[in-house]
Amino acid sequence: FHVPNAVNEPVKSYAPNTPERKAVLDAYKTMWNSKIDVPLYIGSEEIKTGNTKNMTAPHDHKHVVGTYHLAEKSHVEKAIANALEARKAWSSTPWEQRAAIFLKAAELVAGPYRARINAATMVGQSKNVHQAEIDAACEFIDFLRFNVEYMTQIYDDQPNSDQTMWNRVEYRPLEGFVYAITPFNFTAIAGNLPASAAMMGNVVVWKPSDSQVFSAKIIIDIFKEAGVPDGVINVVFGDAQMITDTVLESRDFAGIHFTGSTHVFKDVWGKIGTKISHYKTYPRIVGETGGKDFIIAHPSANAKQVSTGIVRGAFEFQGQKCSAASRAYIPQSLWGDVKEQIITDVKSMKMGSPEDLGNFVTAVIHEGSFDKLASYIDQAKNDADAEIIVGGNYDKSVGYFVEPTVIVTTNPKYKTMETELFGPVMTIYVYEDAKWAETLKLVDETSEYALTGAIFSKDRYAVAEATKALENSAGNFYINDKPTGAVVGMQPFGGARASGTNDKAGSALNLLRWVSPRTIKETF
Ligand code: GLU
Repeated sequence: FHVPNAVNEPVKSYAPNTPERKAVLDAYKTMWNSKIDVPLYIGSEEIKTGNTKNMTAPHDHKHVVGTYHLAEKSHVEKAIANALEARKAWSSTPWEQRAAIFLKAAELVAGPYRARINAATMVGQSKNVHQAEIDAACEFIDFLRFNVEYMTQIYDDQPNSDQTMWNRVEYRPLEGFVYAITPFNFTAIAGNLPASAAMMGNVVVWKPSDSQVFSAKIIIDIFKEAGVPDGVINVVFGDAQMITDTVLESRDFAGIHFTGSTHVFKDVWGKIGTKISHYKTYPRIVGETGGKDFIIAHPSANAKQVSTGIVRGAFEFQGQKCSAASRAYIPQSLWGDVKEQIITDVKSMKMGSPEDLGNFVTAVIHEGSFDKLASYIDQAKNDADAEIIVGGNYDKSVGYFVEPTVIVTTNPKYKTMETELFGPVMTIYVYEDAKWAETLKLVDETSEYALTGAIFSKDRYAVAEATKALENSAGNFYINDKPTGAVVGMQPFGGARASGTNDKAGSALNLLRWVSPRTIKETF
């Protein structure tokens, strides 16, 4: 099968006087005052339930940018019924038709919708323009293009036959519907989780995050314009617990595609387990959850590279990435230089609204996150085994602003070395150079999660040793680079242990979870 070659979408610069800069700022202004009212999307209907919530911007939480409608149980049931109805035609639609729809969606993001989807991500999720561009534009486009290519590789993979028999495998969609739960922190993930299941011929009930409604709405517009038929992707907003419980009551629930917290994922998994005999088929459970991602520097490392890795890995998008570096292990001999450089770099980062494109840091997503971060920062101010070397201030009067904060601890098991905070707080433990091997062991033993990790070293033996010692501590392992920013088609992304089922996002492995193959043997 030949589809257009998947290529990564180039990242635009947004430098002064570029057309993309003007377009995104214009879109931002329009959206800021749009007072948009987002319905549920069920089958061919746009349903306004009348039970609404305000959408506000994290960096200016008193400003209402719009409202969205919340589903009741009956709407979730209706979404399931519509999905199953749409399944009749969609599941037998030739793959070329599905591929063409999602390739068109990619080109709509790349062109006419680029400014809008980036601006919605800036307004609703407080991403700075560069973080919006690599996510809502480039990564979303890459997911769509590469998954179409992986899809055809899967369909192309056929068993042996001979003159007397013909064996073939049909990669059919799951028998039922797929439930997608998506997070606020990546617009691309929000688009990809329903799209990748739908691309393989499945129908979907999608519950976006309450903190990502604005860009979810743009994703829906794109899918509609690209030609995704009514009922194939149904969208319900509202109470996650109620929506999930209603979905799990259906005998036709055939799989969940999840990105979010470890706690919620374990809870859903447990519920599925208790109901397992209720379902027509064993539901596929695919989840990417939390992380407590590490950076370890060897004494041979370049101090500047290490500090850049820490600052970018920990503070881009305010550390709100599952992949964000949040604990680092630095040898005593490098610490002086690394510390000085971190302090200089953090102090040079501007914080404020994403509308000012010079701001690197903006607000964290909501008050709950702000309060949690403030509480850990306060504890670090008082704990004898912790010291804040830069940052430590926070203010929620206008937006949920938390300064990028670096804690240094003398205790390698200090709470912020182990607890996922999902915000701009990095904790560093300085180890004695002679204890390199012990430190590797320590990193592995304290990796309850295993999503991403990075080693910085010029010594190739140390690289090899760390790669082996940390083989189960990270699903994405980086050598001399920050542990964030995986690119579709280049670094398939996902982790194990408490970080998820490791069915790499943007890979054939992931798409295979959304098919239920039938093997056909025909004799002559
Ligand atoms: N894929 C993203 C990265 O490599 C992280 C995704 C997430 O936070 O869930 O940085």
